[in-house]
Amino acid sequence: MSEQTHSSVAKGLHVIGVPRDHVRVVPCDDAFRMDAAALERAVAADEAAGLRPFVAAATAGTTNTGSVDPLREVARVCRAHGLWMHVDGAFGASVLLTRHRGMLDGVELADSLSWDAHKWLFQTYSCGMVLVRDRGNLVSTYAAHPEYLRDLEEGGVTNPWDLGPEVTRPARGLKLWFTLQTMGSEGLAAAVEHGFDLARWAQDEAERTRDVEVVSPAQMAMVSLRFAPAGLSPEGCDALNAEVSRRMCESGYAAVFTTELRGRRCLRICAIHPEATEADMRGVVRGLRAICDEALAL
Ligand SMILES: *Cc1c(COP(=O)(O)O)cnc(C)c1O
Repeated sequence: MSEQTHSSVAKGLHVIGVPRDHVRVVPCDDAFRMDAAALERAVAADEAAGLRPFVAAATAGTTNTGSVDPLREVARVCRAHGLWMHVDGAFGASVLLTRHRGMLDGVELADSLSWDAHKWLFQTYSCGMVLVRDRGNLVSTYAAHPEYLRDLEEGGVTNPWDLGPEVTRPARGLKLWFTLQTMGSEGLAAAVEHGFDLARWAQDEAERTRDVEVVSPAQMAMVSLRFAPAGLSPEGCDALNAEVSRRMCESGYAAVFTTELRGRRCLRICAIHPEATEADMRGVVRGLRAICDEALAL
């Protein structure tokens, strides 16, 4: 995985028994994308040490910045070294519905793709999906065939309990089905594309705002900013941005939390609400500026 991979990937590996010291974290390039050459070097070094790397987890739409790993290059490394290729599309796989789908070029080479409907398909918690190339892998992993379920297994139907770790489970997919019936994939696509506009409006406003650096430009529905007034130390700016975030969240106007990029705190905006407007996004950035002024006056 890369240094921008979501923490849930390491957690998942921990759950299936991969020791923490067997997880390799590959560096990213300047745009927060996995460095595929570094991935290949890490795999080769492990092979030379007698280890057997078996999976690479790429991300399509990272949590911090919305960046997409070079999926085609990661796929080439996976093919060359016999690795399973997983793509974490929890947030970004929804872009496949839109005219921006070319951003995910190479995703079709993945062995598995995770995709959260409770993110950019607008569902309530929880509703997530994993798409797999070969369903036989799920059946051979999870099918258990206990004697008390035998009567339910007749008729050649694949039961959901043969495809994953849960036996009894709720109909999580039903709400997504309803959304698809009412909005259609075109309606969903338009709502997702609106998120791209929201991030761009925020970036545009930030670029017109004094003392703001765009730390990571609009990618998908995300943009990251940092107030860096002249004369304030980097540590002072970290504290200022944390304080601005705290006050903005407290105000109830917008939930702009902080994250850390290149070792510094910044303000991360991720807006996907289909009814949010350009005025809302400009208002958030202006509001942040006003709060920043207040915080500096103290
Ligand atoms: C949100 C997110 C996750 C975690 O998904 P959960 O459904 O909260 O477990 C994993 N990866 C990425 C890229 C995410 O954005």
